[in-house]
Amino acid sequence: MIQQEYPLHWQTKNFSIKIFCSIPNVATGILLKAGKAHLVIDPGDGILRDLNKEIGVKNLLNISDIFITHGHHDHLGGVWSLLTYLRVMQKKIPLNIHYPDGCVEIESIYNAFLKVYSHSMTYKIKLKPIKKMNSFVANQTRVKPFPVIHKEYLSSNKTRQVPALGYNFIFNGKKICYGGDTAYCDTLVKHARNADLAIIEAGHDEDTPDEMHMTMKEAVSIGKSAKKYFLVHVPE
Ligand SMILES: [Zn+2]
Ligand SMILES: [Zn+2]
Repeated sequence: MIQQEYPLHWQTKNFSIKIFCSIPNVATGILLKAGKAHLVIDPGDGILRDLNKEIGVKNLLNISDIFITHGHHDHLGGVWSLLTYLRVMQKKIPLNIHYPDGCVEIESIYNAFLKVYSHSMTYKIKLKPIKKMNSFVANQTRVKPFPVIHKEYLSSNKTRQVPALGYNFIFNGKKICYGGDTAYCDTLVKHARNADLAIIEAGHDEDTPDEMHMTMKEAVSIGKSAKKYFLVHVPE
């Protein structure tokens, strides 16, 4: 089952997810609705436009939590405009940003943002680096982070592991597993199994496995262990 017509949408009673986009090196953007709560996952470029159209200003102002899987631009490139828009529209309630500990990109965006706007902020941003993999509750949704394997190239053609997480989101007895960007890894295999929905990346465009993304075959093998799955982040 390959579904690449964005947006991708899945829903059960009071719990739904919409993937506006997930294209490697371009953008990802995901909205999770749990009861009345709206949670944002991987706010890449275009997220403000997509959220505004999908849920409107009033709901945007009530967003309480953002989850970031890792610091690559296609997963957080929309943060600056989203934070600024919320300030312009006079958001009041705090915004929690959850991300893997050591993700320098989101902390840099936050620091630069405060440098520019601290004198005119209408809401509080709370950075929540995830160090331990304990589960926690965000606006009534149980969240279970787990480490994944995702690397990036350095200038010398060497690679380095980037701080990277997948997340399970559990609400009303239903579980959504989102692996973020990852190579094939045991933690994702474990957490995707029996999920009501697994969102699995298939970002590697060759058949030989590597340490950055999964091949289509690897992604499908994990997806099939869930009750339903979406393959995302497939190269165009
Ligand atoms: Zn990516
Ligand atoms: Zn990445």
